[in-house]
Amino acid sequence: MYQISIKDYEKNLKKRFPNDDFTVLSFTAAIKPVTIKCNKCNKIYNYNRGTTLYSNRRKNICTFCSSKIVQGVYKSCEINNITIINHSYNTIDPWYFRCNICGEEFSRIIYHWKTKQCPKCLAEKRSTVVQFNWQKIIDDLCGESEFEVLKNTSADHFFIKHKCGFIRKTQSGAFLRSPWCPRCKGTMSKGERKILDYLQKNNISYEAQKKIPDSHQTFDFYIQPNIAIEFNGK
Ligand SMILES: [Zn+2]
Ligand SMILES: [Zn+2]
Ligand SMILES: [Zn+2]
Repeated sequence: MYQISIKDYEKNLKKRFPNDDFTVLSFTAAIKPVTIKCNKCNKIYNYNRGTTLYSNRRKNICTFCSSKIVQGVYKSCEINNITIINHSYNTIDPWYFRCNICGEEFSRIIYHWKTKQCPKCLAEKRSTVVQFNWQKIIDDLCGESEFEVLKNTSADHFFIKHKCGFIRKTQSGAFLRSPWCPRCKGTMSKGERKILDYLQKNNISYEAQKKIPDSHQTFDFYIQPNIAIEFNGK
């Protein structure tokens, strides 16, 4: 009977599966059991016969690594400079990662990991982009150093500081419609200022930049129970 060595068997398999990274751990003869280790995920595969692996239907040595979702994770980790520290052999248990850019360690269930990016780097990327944009838009609208965008709490909610020192949390749309300061009335239009003076002089309580529930509208002033006043910069 024709005998091949473990090295030759491995060489033949590598020709047959050029994209797989594996080591043949034990082999005696083509019709005897064989053990193979995947070098990517360290999974050990035992087969009853060495010839099993030559079946025409077989596309990969490691069925785990070749699954679409795992392939996607490998690829994203390579692109985004993330190291897989520890992983399970399923898509239900968490995998552990380390970001090589910021050092953040985090775990994800890969099936639910939509962004495939480091959460810390991603948050930084998002907040700097958004913050820069809002600051510029507000500068163009109100003049430089009138308002300072302090911190984004979400994509379009931020804390804003007027030059008088007054800080409030606002939503971008509401702010852009009436970009003034409720404390000192800075950058307020004449009409708005008149209304505000009137409300304050007559001790009428109001809410500024009131969003009406069940509607998409926001009003400059809202007086309980149902009076809403909106200026369009006039
Ligand atoms: Zn593998
Ligand atoms: Zn990171
Ligand atoms: Zn102010």
